[in-house]
Amino acid sequence: MSNYDEELRVAVESVRQASALCRAVQARLRDDDSLDKKDRSPVTVADFGAQAVVAHALATAFPGVPLVGEESAKVLRTDEGKHVRDQVVEHVRTQLPDLDEDTILDEIDRGAAEGGATGRHWTLDPIDGTKGFLRGDQYAVALALIEDGEIVLGVLGCPNLPLDADRADDAKGCLFVAVKGQGTTMHALDSDRSEAVSVTAIDDARHAKFCESVESAHSSHSDSARVAELLGVEAEPFRIDSQCKYAAVARGNASIYLRLPTKKGYEEKIWDHAAGHIVVTEAGGRVTDVDGKPLDFSLGRTLRDNTGVIVTNGKLHDRTVAAVKEVLGRS
Ligand code: AMP
Ligand code: MG
Repeated sequence: MSNYDEELRVAVESVRQASALCRAVQARLRDDDSLDKKDRSPVTVADFGAQAVVAHALATAFPGVPLVGEESAKVLRTDEGKHVRDQVVEHVRTQLPDLDEDTILDEIDRGAAEGGATGRHWTLDPIDGTKGFLRGDQYAVALALIEDGEIVLGVLGCPNLPLDADRADDAKGCLFVAVKGQGTTMHALDSDRSEAVSVTAIDDARHAKFCESVESAHSSHSDSARVAELLGVEAEPFRIDSQCKYAAVARGNASIYLRLPTKKGYEEKIWDHAAGHIVVTEAGGRVTDVDGKPLDFSLGRTLRDNTGVIVTNGKLHDRTVAAVKEVLGRS
């Protein structure tokens, strides 16, 4: 079996580069840095730029391995997209000076793969939590390697996340790394600091903290409040964008992450969960959907056989699933 050393080296290096690009864009965000996608969700210079940087690194090191990425360069190739395209090219070139515009657009379009049950593929969310990114809050660069439908490696860059959650003034910028069977480590983006992380040992739900999306359109805040009440959770939920929620459970800032459906038929995307999933499970946590089923990453670009997501420290899992089923009437 592979030890994934080379895959890990390239994944970490490219997520670091993408995180640097995102920080540069976030530091001087302007109104004309984003476009609206067909589903009205925002996409920025940094989403495209980060996908170009990571896709280029992966294609250079592992030319035969497909990439399932969130973004496509289609809109950048239009007149309407020209102002964003010019900035994407400028930002990507600060990392990769030799790439020309056509190559950058082609690298972004490498993300069009379908995924599936056999062989290897990467999955990338170049900016998870774009709404958080635009607000100046939390977001993540999320990259994972899937082999025969199973996640074997994940790297999660969280450029705005304080290294110590209890000290908002602490240095910001974390990188979480997980390899199957090898645990999860957290590294500082800007120093040599690194440490192994693990979930809480809390088994009394009254003492558990839970986290959820800032956006109530992505996860039902009213249903999660009822679940918390049923479980006897005392603390207010803590709301944070992106897969930083998986990281928060992985390093023990929260013991439960609830993602409860807001509309029937929504299919979660594999890039919104793959990296976070291995980061939290290798730290000792557990992940299922609202029915207690494992997430199935082998079905293509979406988790179409799952509904919602429940993440816990493991100890609280069965109780949390039972409470969710009761609240959602799924028992
Ligand atoms: P979060 O930062 O946790 O709110 O999640 C951001 C992600 O939510 C985005 O990357 C979207 O792919 C995803 N998303 C968009 N619409 C929905 C929805 N109706 N339910 C769940 N997730 C969604
Ligand atoms: Mg996302």
